[in-house]
Amino acid sequence: MTGHVALDPVALDPGGTRGAALAAVRGAFARAGLDEPALDARILVAEAAGVRPGVLLAELERPLGADATARLAGFAARRLAHEPVWRILGEAEFWGLRFRLAPQTLVPRPDTETLVETALALAPGRAPRILDLGTGSGCILVALLAERRDASGIGLDRSEEACRTARENARANGVGDRAAFVVGDWTGALAPAPGFDLVVSNPPYIPEGDLPGLAREVRAHDPVRALDGGADGLDAYRAILARGRDLLAPGGVLAVEVGIGQAEPVSRLGETHGLVFLRLARDLAGIPRIVVFGR
Ligand code: GLN
Repeated sequence: MTGHVALDPVALDPGGTRGAALAAVRGAFARAGLDEPALDARILVAEAAGVRPGVLLAELERPLGADATARLAGFAARRLAHEPVWRILGEAEFWGLRFRLAPQTLVPRPDTETLVETALALAPGRAPRILDLGTGSGCILVALLAERRDASGIGLDRSEEACRTARENARANGVGDRAAFVVGDWTGALAPAPGFDLVVSNPPYIPEGDLPGLAREVRAHDPVRALDGGADGLDAYRAILARGRDLLAPGGVLAVEVGIGQAEPVSRLGETHGLVFLRLARDLAGIPRIVVFGR
């Protein structure tokens, strides 16, 4: 555990400029060994000041003000306790869209944009019907619906709060009329609803034993139910792939995100359940991240 580094209250002078506050927070974050001290400081100072990060840098000489300084001290203390900036802001960016977060939703990861990209490339020409299993904040489904104005979709999640958050995100991003969110366990809740052209999922895939070794930002702040994939990390794939054929329309595709080293076992698992392996897609780091099946 990293030692707690207190922000020296003198360093955050309520009469000081935005630039001085930025330097103080950045310094404290760097001393605490946070991964991205400059970026995090910039985002949080901008949030405290109520301006966009880009605007902040153009106006560093302006005073921050007492209220904003107090807000910033609170944000900085939370970040120093390893709360991710997106949790502090309560929203994150994904596929160029903003998503509100809840404690029951994972912070959307850039890797998952590969799933959106892959699914879009495989979507049929006619109006696609989409199913997102374990929708969380709704980021995958909402991004797909935002790109394909003719598509409609269902997001399923075990958490009622996640469904509420996803519904709000769909509405805020202008796709609420084409999205429905259903509380339920994997595919069980959808027993009589086959015929999807696209089934997508970023399920929990971390092997149980690896959970304690995750970064504190993830371990302490992402919901464990969105991470824990059981003993070998593959429990969710067993459930999803077993129902895959029943959910897909003829010509439909199922695309799942996988963890490092899971592409091969997940491909085999799908074939065991009568799905046809179609392709792999790699994330920006070149890691096989998405496995695509047909029926
Ligand atoms: N990609 C996430 C992480 O690395 C894990 C999300 C998941 O289990 N689907 O923390």
